[in-house]
Amino acid sequence: MTDRTPNATDERPPKPRPAPTPDADSAPYWSAAREGRLVVQRCTNCGARQLYPRDRCLVCRGPVEWVEATGRGTVYSFTVIRQNYSRPFRDWIPYVVALVDLEEGPRVMTNIVGCEPDDVRIGMPVRAQFEAVSDEAGIALFAPVSGADSGADSGAD
Ligand SMILES: [Zn+2]
Repeated sequence: MTDRTPNATDERPPKPRPAPTPDADSAPYWSAAREGRLVVQRCTNCGARQLYPRDRCLVCRGPVEWVEATGRGTVYSFTVIRQNYSRPFRDWIPYVVALVDLEEGPRVMTNIVGCEPDDVRIGMPVRAQFEAVSDEAGIALFAPVSGADSGADSGAD
């Protein structure tokens, strides 16, 4: 986490991730991620929050709006993928697929990056980071929150 010292585990070829095809319900999510923002849906009737995107609230069928999320969450569960023969995934193994509970409530499936797979733990605090995968879409990945970063959000930068 200090200098970028090349080593065997750090030399993963920069293959592009598969890009999603945004539709009417999901386009705001993908474009926000493209801009480096995490958004979730909030029901304007009952206030429930949800992700992935749907056209109605799962709780009361009310209309939903997009609201900004903090990008903070915790690892609910995860698995380490050690075998995947399809590109580009085979270039990344081993990698971590995780369920992350967002601070706002929704549980999302994602990848944990920025640490060794064996260092991922259930309950670990993580924060979203973003990767552009097409002109209209970005994806949210989650990385461990470092010690200095784990307190209240200072918004220093
Ligand atoms: Zn609702």
